Amino acid sequence: MSPRIEDIRARQILDSRGNPTIEVLVKLENGSIGRFSVPSGASKGEKEALELRDGGKRLRGKGVLRAVRNVNEIIRPALVGMDAASQLGIDSTMIELDGTSNKSRLGANSILGVSIAVAKAASRSFGLPLYRYIGGVSARTLPVPFMNVINGGVHAGNELAIQEFMIVPARFPRFRDALLAGVEVYMELRDILMGKYGRSAVNVGDEGGFAPPMSKTHEALDALVEAIERTGYSGRVLLALDCAANEFYSNGSYRIDGSQLSPSDLMEFYEELIDRYPIISIEDPFMDDDWESLSEFTRRVGGRIQVVGDDYFATNPSILRIGIERGAANALLLKVNQIGTLSEAIEAARMAFHSGYSVMVSHRSGETTDSFIADLSVALNSGQIKTGAPARGERVAKYNRLLEIEEELGPTALFPGLPRVA
Ligand code: PEP
Ligand code: MG
Repeated sequence: MSPRIEDIRARQILDSRGNPTIEVLVKLENGSIGRFSVPSGASKGEKEALELRDGGKRLRGKGVLRAVRNVNEIIRPALVGMDAASQLGIDSTMIELDGTSNKSRLGANSILGVSIAVAKAASRSFGLPLYRYIGGVSARTLPVPFMNVINGGVHAGNELAIQEFMIVPARFPRFRDALLAGVEVYMELRDILMGKYGRSAVNVGDEGGFAPPMSKTHEALDALVEAIERTGYSGRVLLALDCAANEFYSNGSYRIDGSQLSPSDLMEFYEELIDRYPIISIEDPFMDDDWESLSEFTRRVGGRIQVVGDDYFATNPSILRIGIERGAANALLLKVNQIGTLSEAIEAARMAFHSGYSVMVSHRSGETTDSFIADLSVALNSGQIKTGAPARGERVAKYNRLLEIEEELGPTALFPGLPRVA
């Protein structure tokens, strides 16, 4: 007999930037409880499902009391009594109840809070770890961590156009070795930045990476290469970028490193970076309506590196299908709150794998200490996660959960590294 939902309650809490977000608690008839707090992005694409906020003057309009009410007064009565193990049934009931294409009536934050809290309660009720409940017996791949150690773009108060400069400890026997190598590079980077740019350079941005007063892309990449060399990890710790190009695009051109670049100039700029630095993955290299440039870029460099679509696909299976048809990117960035239910996020991952795309599970720049995405990355055997620098509680909560999962899996854990990196 599957456990039934007895109660659902939401409340307003704060995320890592101090903005309000929603936490949902689901209680089953057998007493099992699941709780999830919803993250929130800053560099958001237009295609994301709607994050419902109160508007008005209070809290600059960012309150989520309407979303809380929607859970307590609309979603709760519809789901109480339902089988908690019927994730698809629960998610489709909420999608129907909302009735819009972008979850704008109830809010993707309300719906996602319930969707994942239900999955957590169900896993508890079956006595299974979350990754095992969601992923089944085959869930055993620990992800390569993509650690965002220099923050730019809208995540930091500096002049770097590119949003995320990540180190990728890909060639290590186990997850814990990879993570600790990343930590050593992060520590070394701190010294390098302090020596070159002074004490203020080691202040951190939204995702725990340093936010030094740099303005040029190569300054950040040079510092990373130096940190990797000094720690002796050349060839084992590699580099990745999330350009989040929407944020430095306007009127047909991109403002980067003091120049205005056309899409084709920007493509050349990236190709030079790939030739010069050990970059193995680039996310959102162009603004997210420019499918043509993304497809062309994938044709040109997709054999050598991973090209990741984040704002382009918004974890939306219908949009991903269009991208796949156009040969745009070769990897999906998976953010559960972009689409708003666990079932649809899993469907996007399934579609990506089926089409030969990789999947990188991702946090948001506004996070909570909830470590759900760590379990999700193992459940999907995605092999990749990005969840910030090895700093700040909301970032390390995910890395620490992965350490725990690796220990729990013992000799059955896999850490294969990255498929596109020879
Ligand atoms: C991203 O762009 O990949 C990201 C994590 O940032 P945000 O959450 O601000 O969209
Ligand atoms: Mg991104």
